[in-house]
Amino acid sequence: MNTAKRRTVIAGNWKMNFTPDQATAFINELKPMVAGKDNCDIIFCAPYVTIAAAQAAAQGSNIKIGAENVHFAPNGAYTGEVSAEMLKAIGVEYVIIGHSERRQYFGETDETVNLRTKAALAAGMTVILCLGEVKEQRLAGITDEVVAMQTKLDLAGVSAEELKRVIIAYEPVWAIGTGLTATPEQAEETCASIRRVVASMYGNDAAEALTIQYGGSMNDANAADLLAKTNVDGGLIGGASLVAKKFTAIVDAAQ
Ligand code: PEP
Repeated sequence: MNTAKRRTVIAGNWKMNFTPDQATAFINELKPMVAGKDNCDIIFCAPYVTIAAAQAAAQGSNIKIGAENVHFAPNGAYTGEVSAEMLKAIGVEYVIIGHSERRQYFGETDETVNLRTKAALAAGMTVILCLGEVKEQRLAGITDEVVAMQTKLDLAGVSAEELKRVIIAYEPVWAIGTGLTATPEQAEETCASIRRVVASMYGNDAAEALTIQYGGSMNDANAADLLAKTNVDGGLIGGASLVAKKFTAIVDAAQ
């Protein structure tokens, strides 16, 4: 973290977990545990049907509720999808885009990730843009090339002004939900590499101001070492975001 230059963001990705009642109970349990811990932003990205209950429970606290995806069209014949305008209408400011599970299981490509990113930004939302290499790419030694390409394609057409509402989540796919975590050094190297690419696109000041999270089996045991790295400005957390004690320990590591 370089807290002098950028905001630390600890975000939970609930994935397809928590009914509205379960989300309410979770937020009610967590609220007192993270109260006053304002050195980082705390966000939970929730399934669409759970957002309203989570928002109601989080009201008046330092917890913000986001979504896990958004469609790029403003409206129309896209069964099962939700637009940025709809999310804005219910007060959602944050949205994850390009999560590896969306890319892996639902056919999302850098092209659709870019379209969704631009639509969310145009609607005034803040995007948590996920990217990262698969295991074979890391083993082949092409991680930097892969994340550079994703960064360029996913941010194509995003203005410098809009970039201020982008958070990049570097998530090595081999580390997501597997219990395998990138070492702090690997996380630092790749987050720094992404920052260099952003600098080449938008200039040094914009790159230095950009929050780049690490995601991939971050938990209460490894968060402090990962977050101690200069270019790791927070975490996107799956499994550990479902357990209040574990998530609080990650927030504490960011204080
Ligand atoms: C994620 O879903 O973005 C993630 C990093 O999951 P996990 O923490 O479970 O690896």
